[in-house]
Amino acid sequence: MAYLSNFSEHLAKSIYEDKVLQRPEVPKRILVTGGAGFLGSHLCGLLLEAGHQVICADNFSTGLRQNVEPLKRFDNFRLIAHDIVEPIDLAIDEIYNLACPASPPHYQADPIHTTKTCVLGSLNMLELAARHGARILQASTSEIYGDPQVHPQVESYWGNVNPFGPRSCYDEGKRCAETLFFDFHRTRQVEIKVVRIFNTYGPRMRPDDGRVVSNFIVQALKGEDITIYGDGSQTRSFCFVDDLIDGFVRVMASPASLTGPINLGNPGEFTIGELAEQVVGLTGSRSRIVYRPLPVDDPRQRRPDISLAERELGWRPRIDLAAGLAQTIGHFDTLLARTDGELMEVA
Ligand code: NAD
Ligand code: UDP
Repeated sequence: MAYLSNFSEHLAKSIYEDKVLQRPEVPKRILVTGGAGFLGSHLCGLLLEAGHQVICADNFSTGLRQNVEPLKRFDNFRLIAHDIVEPIDLAIDEIYNLACPASPPHYQADPIHTTKTCVLGSLNMLELAARHGARILQASTSEIYGDPQVHPQVESYWGNVNPFGPRSCYDEGKRCAETLFFDFHRTRQVEIKVVRIFNTYGPRMRPDDGRVVSNFIVQALKGEDITIYGDGSQTRSFCFVDDLIDGFVRVMASPASLTGPINLGNPGEFTIGELAEQVVGLTGSRSRIVYRPLPVDDPRQRRPDISLAERELGWRPRIDLAAGLAQTIGHFDTLLARTDGELMEVA
């Protein structure tokens, strides 16, 4: 079988062999909010391949129509232009709530709308889940831990978050969303799954997304300066998209008692300086590395403790940074050649 979006064949195979995804006798009706975004479009592809009905609801603030264009060949695919800040009623069995800009420059561009998306959007999706008895997964984030004082980050750590800084619309919005998820679970018996995603990268990130991996790759391929913020000693752990989507469907299929929060990420930890060197090495770029001011409240270090996911789901990432970067570089290389270096939106 050819998998959409280069979803690694061995990963897709293991998802079926482990019976996480099964060819359904009756397809489930699955709503993916934010389905036209980076993670959402990969998820929609995998669920459609498995034979489910997928409704993608997106306001296209950071998502791209071209991400979901190839999915239109599935009869079971429906695309709705919708902002989750507004209520909606749809007959569904499962919800993956991914709608929210994830890149700091994008979520800070309209911070009030980001908070509304996290809080009102989650509330609307939880009401929808409650009405239809649907299971709902929340795309939460490692930003719950803020600038962490516990390392690596374990789910029981409550975090160190600035409530009124430029990152707060996202960090506190996502924290409030977790509160809503657990209160709907406790008071209205909604089946919830809360996953805390650590920096994930891969094909279909926008070239102008603004996050570090896509920035460095695009800069290297264009021969532009590679911009390290701060001195590059801050760390992150980078997960390749296929591994993360594998984790999503495993969490969704897990017993109802596993509500999370559960960390999903790759525990390999790199400084931003090391990432820049790897990108330069893999692209053979002649770009210079330049240093720019560190953004306010930029977390110093980040690495997930994934022992809960390993124990409960038998999940751990399989694609290391070099292999994931190589695939991502290939994607951007093709994209930039096709679009003459510019981002092109397909209407
Ligand atoms: P993305 O920006 O590519 O995708 C977000 C999608 O949500 C876009 O298609 C956007 O148009 C849509 N959207 C935004 N606000 C909306 C709204 N109010 N109503 C409807 N649609 C809306 O980002 P991504 O990396 O694919 O992230 C997806 C989810 O995963 C987000 O919730 C993000 O917070 C979470 N997450 C991602 C990462 C990561 O490293 N990729 C890490 C932590 C958490
Ligand atoms: N970063 C950088 N150069 C860039 C973009 C980001 O040095 O062009 C740094 C950023 O300051 C942070 C790290 O890379 O320390 C990861 O940033 P990103 O925006 O990808 O994710 P987040 O900060 O949300 O983890």
